[in-house]
Amino acid sequence: MDEKIEIKSGSGSAPDLDAEGWLAEAERRPSPNQDRRPPGTVIDLLVIHAISLPPGEFGGDWIDALFHNRLDPNAHPYFAPIATVRVSAHLLIRRDGRLIQYVPYECRAWHAGVSSFQGRARCNDYSIGIELEGTDETPFTESQYARLAVCTRRIQQRYPAITLDRIVGHADIAPGRKTDPGPSFDWARYRHDVQSLA
Ligand SMILES: [Zn+2]
Repeated sequence: MDEKIEIKSGSGSAPDLDAEGWLAEAERRPSPNQDRRPPGTVIDLLVIHAISLPPGEFGGDWIDALFHNRLDPNAHPYFAPIATVRVSAHLLIRRDGRLIQYVPYECRAWHAGVSSFQGRARCNDYSIGIELEGTDETPFTESQYARLAVCTRRIQQRYPAITLDRIVGHADIAPGRKTDPGPSFDWARYRHDVQSLA
């Protein structure tokens, strides 16, 4: 299911992104798992993740349930140990490119956990986190790449400190603990897509 995804060209303000950092085109599902960023924080990192619940299964309601603290620990063996974990991300991009926003960019989502970028810890404080519905081993979809590129470009317009070299995978900031988005994510293609929108 491909849908046409457009972006307004040029730099400066993006009218479809409000002052808090809610995207007009996203389905808005505020997660309780968020709080304020430390005062004066410059948002200067973008973290790409992959998630599927249960692992390898797509299309269910479980990611949404996890981000809203209503994951049924008995619904699947994988869920029991994670049902009480309080996590979220700013955005989730489904396999069909559908966009759901759980946390506005100006607030801190709880996506990175124990993490460090270039020696600076607590990446949640200063980053935006985007989850792609997927696994480390399954190719992501055309719709996901298209949506991700547009979202990234808009984020860079609002937060210009997020240069291409400050877009990383979860595995890069939590090595040994996390592997996502994994080898299935095509970084070269993604960076090219983003640059083509600039
Ligand atoms: Zn992750």
